[in-house]
Amino acid sequence: MKKRKSDPSTWGDATKLVRGGLDRTKHGETSEALFLNSGFVYDQPETAESRFAGEDDGYVYGRYGNPTVTMFEERLALLEGAEACYAVASGMAAVFGALACQLKAGDHLVASRALFGSCYQIVTSILPRFGIKTTLVDGHDLNAWKEAITSDTRCVFLETPSNPGLEVIDLEAVCAIAKARGANIVVDNIFATPILQRPLEYGADVIVYSGTKHMDGQGRVLGGAIMSTRKFKDDELKPFLRHTGPSISPFNAWVLLKGLETMKLRVEAQSHAALKVAQALEAMPGIARVLYPHLDSHPQALLCRKQMKLGGTMVTFEVEGGKKKAFDLLRNLGIIDISNNLGDAKSLMTHPASTTHRNIGAEARAMMGITDGMLRLSVGLEDTADLIGDLMQANKA
Ligand SMILES: *Cc1c(COP(=O)(O)O)cnc(C)c1O
Repeated sequence: MKKRKSDPSTWGDATKLVRGGLDRTKHGETSEALFLNSGFVYDQPETAESRFAGEDDGYVYGRYGNPTVTMFEERLALLEGAEACYAVASGMAAVFGALACQLKAGDHLVASRALFGSCYQIVTSILPRFGIKTTLVDGHDLNAWKEAITSDTRCVFLETPSNPGLEVIDLEAVCAIAKARGANIVVDNIFATPILQRPLEYGADVIVYSGTKHMDGQGRVLGGAIMSTRKFKDDELKPFLRHTGPSISPFNAWVLLKGLETMKLRVEAQSHAALKVAQALEAMPGIARVLYPHLDSHPQALLCRKQMKLGGTMVTFEVEGGKKKAFDLLRNLGIIDISNNLGDAKSLMTHPASTTHRNIGAEARAMMGITDGMLRLSVGLEDTADLIGDLMQANKA
């Protein structure tokens, strides 16, 4: 195709999300092509030989790469300002791949304790089975990070804002502590999205995403991505992921590519609505506490404003009356759905203690501040007045 005279790295986010990584075929299709194939053929045996030798960067097999997947990876890397991106089958494949590819028996991992349920399982139960030592810290407490990260620490993993407590960790400070001890910093940036927060700018090394959430944003497919330097992708991710096989389906990558085109619009609109919903919840009777990064009442309000452009699409709140009152509110919702998914166009609410954070047990929930009256709301694209009205009637009923 005709080459345009415009450098993609100079584009704004919206342009990157619509046009980044676009690689049209000779047919000149407007939208990105979907290559729904697992294998590739070669016109000569020498071509196959040079591709397997890594001398020719053409495709060899779906588990190693696919042109639609490459477009998705390049678009995301461009947006994030990362050298490289590796797309995988789900957010959890991204979290596990980013950690397991660089850790071996005897290595030490330090992680924030306020983690998504499955991330918590990986850190506290799966990685230790392979001889990896792990330490959990209170992410707010910089002294705890300083004490836990030693010169033996290979890797630091954190989630900010956390799911569901919306705790915010000081990326600049924690990255500086970890860098000084030579540890690699992996950040789960799923709640913030690359639209609102760029951990690379604060010194993080590897960023992980679930494409399932805001990238798709319409509840259709699973996917994930790992952002890193080109060297980390070539030396650590490729050897681990190519042979263990958590590949993303080209169809899912194509849906996510199309989702990226509207991600900025959606995340910004959903974040503006979430702030209004959080403010309305603060004024409702029977609501004990509202957690939202850009509310003045957030325990780390200043840090939230420094690190995140907007407060994000998630609002967490606590009802007076524990699990019974929380379930009553869920039952009485007329528009918002009961669902553990998030980042969707449809507003979704979940009770973390009985669902996403059920398996970690009561003790770990208490440590993370997840109470029985806590509800997590993912604010969608409906009219904000309808959402506030739905919450008011469900809370009153
Ligand atoms: C959903 C989620 C994940 C996992 O993503 P999947 O695509 O469901 O595998 C990891 N971390 C956080 C913070 C999440 O919200």
